[in-house]
Amino acid sequence: MDIPRYWRLKSQRYRLQGRRCTDCGSLSFPPRQVCMKCKSRNSEPYEFKGKGKLYSYTTIYQSPDRFEQIIPYVVALVDLEEGVRITAQLTDYFPEQLEIGMDLEMVIRQIYEDGPRGPILYGYKFRPILCPGIES
Ligand SMILES: [Zn+2]
Repeated sequence: MDIPRYWRLKSQRYRLQGRRCTDCGSLSFPPRQVCMKCKSRNSEPYEFKGKGKLYSYTTIYQSPDRFEQIIPYVVALVDLEEGVRITAQLTDYFPEQLEIGMDLEMVIRQIYEDGPRGPILYGYKFRPILCPGIES
């Protein structure tokens, strides 16, 4: 992978970097070059704050090879404060804790290890905010 592409992908993984349409203000994540609402190609980078609410979730018991080491895991639909719904893995939770509508925040976590010698990839996941208002 060439370096510029690596860094572009990295900024998407380590931060919630999307796009904001400069014509109608629509936000997209993952970033899209063409606005879904007004079809404009004019957009600028937009960084989401990483706070949201749990819309729904599902537990994954079977998984492609590289995720095998972490099954079962939970994939959630998260409604970001900015009004965009994204898919993300949950982390740092007790299953009995999970409640639709609960507050979530983004954290950076290990996604998977690419073989014993491969790189460990990190990316965003979401975790419950147990005491909303208290930053950790
Ligand atoms: Zn637009």
